[in-house]
Amino acid sequence: TPFPIDFPARAVVDLEAVRDNVRALRAHAPSSALMAVVKADAYGHGLVPTAWAALAGGATWLGVAQAAEAVALRAAGIGPGDARILTWLHSPGVDFDPLVAADVDVSVAAPWALDGVAAAARATGRVARVHLKVDTGLGRNGITPADLPAAAARAAALVAEGAIHVVGVWTHLAYADEPGHPTIAAQRVVLDDAVRTVEAAGIEVELRHAANSAATLTAPALHYDLVRPGISVYGFSPVPGVATASSFGLRPAMTLQARLATVKNVEAGQGVSYAHRYVTTQATQLGVVPLGYADGIPRHASGGDDGPGGPVYVGGPAGAGIGPAGDGDGGRVVRVAGRVCMDQVVLDLGPYATEQPGDVVTLFGSTDGLAHSASVPSAEDWAAAAGTISYEIVTRIAPRIPRVYV
Ligand code: PLP
Repeated sequence: TPFPIDFPARAVVDLEAVRDNVRALRAHAPSSALMAVVKADAYGHGLVPTAWAALAGGATWLGVAQAAEAVALRAAGIGPGDARILTWLHSPGVDFDPLVAADVDVSVAAPWALDGVAAAARATGRVARVHLKVDTGLGRNGITPADLPAAAARAAALVAEGAIHVVGVWTHLAYADEPGHPTIAAQRVVLDDAVRTVEAAGIEVELRHAANSAATLTAPALHYDLVRPGISVYGFSPVPGVATASSFGLRPAMTLQARLATVKNVEAGQGVSYAHRYVTTQATQLGVVPLGYADGIPRHASGGDDGPGGPVYVGGPAGAGIGPAGDGDGGRVVRVAGRVCMDQVVLDLGPYATEQPGDVVTLFGSTDGLAHSASVPSAEDWAAAAGTISYEIVTRIAPRIPRVYV
């Protein structure tokens, strides 16, 4: 795809990578159904195209946090025959009616929601499908084991009334990204107890689910009937300190690129960007990248007296494809110089740079399947530069950056 000239920046999303990642994840959990977690605009990759790609890879469920996300999936034409959808974070005031009407499974994480979902079932003349969320130890959303017997009894009454069908009992893990952490096995015991509690109330439990990406890839005992990977669908390791994405058969789907707005000569001693936190040490060339914190570039990835800035790949023939060609073509990695601004960052390109305004630079991208591309930074490198996780880097890429699908 040629770089659209009217876009100063773009996020190229490789939907084949999404599809292949889901295939790889299915191979890691072959006995379980797979729910691709596509909340938050598919972690910034674009809700609907990414959802279809995940389904093409063998996902049969889509998971979202918010009611509006579930409704958007159905409105985009992803019907009940294409995917089951589960939505899981609701506050009082949510309108469950459109969810139940659109055949969306609803998580119930607090007693108030049980009656809300039942009311939606009565209003729409349908049976609401419910997943009881149990707080098995994360200490976040979910019914506590202490409250579960009463909630299960109430759910049983609503089942008897014909208002709801309890599809599943499920939970979320606190330490799945630390393989072998004792809480993983402990939460499994609590979930198994919770299933018995629900069954003791006379409810048949079809689906139990607990595994995020990390548990899908490293904790088979937590696979149960359904796994719910998110970050790994997008090609990142959920355990970056332990194992790489490629070791799990995953590759990043998103490549973030921009065209240099300007390139100019400056003298040694030139302060760069607000408060001059970076000062040139030699006569050099500065390049301006039209991406800033309004676009999701973390201000913590500024570079200067308190450490190097975020890495940017420059000089390769990146404009030609979705990823730069890398070593051997003159490409190299330079660092953000000075403060990340709202709309722009500055690079110190060095005295011998040959870059021109309009040249494409790559902030992070797929480094797999491309010849000589080992030097392209990853979203994990940006996460390291900013003191955060890959999830936050890709999820925060702003809506004003066009997503280009390949
Ligand atoms: N399940 C639930 C309930 C979640 O909130 C999330 C995301 O935070 C996931 C699964 C997917 O997690 P991950 O992206 O770590 O695979």
